[in-house]
Amino acid sequence: MSKNIQAIRGMHDLLPTHSPLWQRLEDGAREVLEGYGYQEIRTPLVEVTELFKRSIGEVTDIVEKEMYSFTDRNGDSLSLRPEGTASCVRAAIEHGLLAQPQRLWYRGPMFRHERPQRGRYRQFHQIGVEVFGLDGPDIDLEVILLTRRLWRALGIDGLRLEINTLGDAPERAAYRDALTAYLGRHLDQLDEDSRKRLHTNPLRILDSKDPRTQAVVADAPRLIDHLGGTSRDHFAALCAGLDEAGLDYEQNPRLVRGLDYYNRTVFEWTTDDLGAQGTVCAGGRYDGLVEQLGGRATPAVGFALGVERAVALLEQRDDPAAPSLDAYLVAVGDAAQARAIQIAEDLRDALPGMRLMCHCGGGSFKSQFKKADRSGAQLALVLGEAELAQGLIGVKPLRGTGEQETIAIRDLPKRLKRLD
Ligand code: ATP
Ligand code: MG
Repeated sequence: MSKNIQAIRGMHDLLPTHSPLWQRLEDGAREVLEGYGYQEIRTPLVEVTELFKRSIGEVTDIVEKEMYSFTDRNGDSLSLRPEGTASCVRAAIEHGLLAQPQRLWYRGPMFRHERPQRGRYRQFHQIGVEVFGLDGPDIDLEVILLTRRLWRALGIDGLRLEINTLGDAPERAAYRDALTAYLGRHLDQLDEDSRKRLHTNPLRILDSKDPRTQAVVADAPRLIDHLGGTSRDHFAALCAGLDEAGLDYEQNPRLVRGLDYYNRTVFEWTTDDLGAQGTVCAGGRYDGLVEQLGGRATPAVGFALGVERAVALLEQRDDPAAPSLDAYLVAVGDAAQARAIQIAEDLRDALPGMRLMCHCGGGSFKSQFKKADRSGAQLALVLGEAELAQGLIGVKPLRGTGEQETIAIRDLPKRLKRLD
């Protein structure tokens, strides 16, 4: 016997039992984003590989080992997008969006060939924001406050905000030298990954989970001590704004982020409720990226929220009840069945927004009522041959008490309006 084909490891179906939670998250996010004047952008899932190499960085985990890359029929190297920022920048340059400030948002699947585990998948989803053309700490503040409003709107509590500043490129380069020199003196205490990163991506070592490496890192030179006045002022203004907004945060000097393009502000929202994969949302400023990808120098800031992780939090806090049906139309007998779909269409015309399911496929009253009951509908509408002949239809409450009544079909909209 042939084996059934299954979904690819780390790539999941979203089943109807769970889609209400996703919809709540997506609808809630969209409302909040629109409330700040952000506009949606959609870009292709596939881009030339070069785009990600040039933006995310050649020596990052993503580009070194996580991309789904393949050769197109014409020989081009293409990749499934591992994140959204590079594509947004590409699109903004390509369509000349950068002449004025832009507040954009996107959502959709991302692809990374990581080891699948709880909260870490090979196809996962992000909702993200990218703001172009604004360089002050005010927009960094807005973006972070927007995320707070999102947690509030969704009823997600218990998230912690960590922030840090990475300074600007020359400051970071000076710091990198100091850090490399320090870590080089403690080479024997570093884990293997960190040793490899010493000359390619030493800042990432700050982020190591290895206890011995962490002990070395604790006494490492601090980036904040290598910042110039402008970077310090920017960060101080952001902190002051967060204080004024009453938003608690932790300043974490080891927060560096895995992508190369960040500068100045970086932040993460984390939780203890999801085990090891506790970062739900992460972002920061990336002032150099637009120019690096061939556009005119444009400051930028953004974040991406991991939808699976946010949905997992929603699920812990709430049961994912599907929006239930208002009515289920039962029809028995050939003539009634033939009319049922039409009657349902007329009802939908008369009562926009009504959730009505029309029984299809025939069967006895008994079997159709069973389905009506299981559908979760409030009411069954009952169409039999005899009723139809007189232009009548039964209305039977399925929840609680209440008697079945028989009314004229043309009075249905009036009768059902009383439902809400
Ligand atoms: P992590 O440290 O968890 O690997 P990251 O730094 O690689 O995260 P980003 O690229 O900044 O993550 O992505 C932003 C958010 O997207 C993360 O905070 C997380 O919520 C989510 N995310 C990233 N990778 C995955 C994945 N493989 N599966 C599910 N969610 C993910
Ligand atoms: Mg990662």
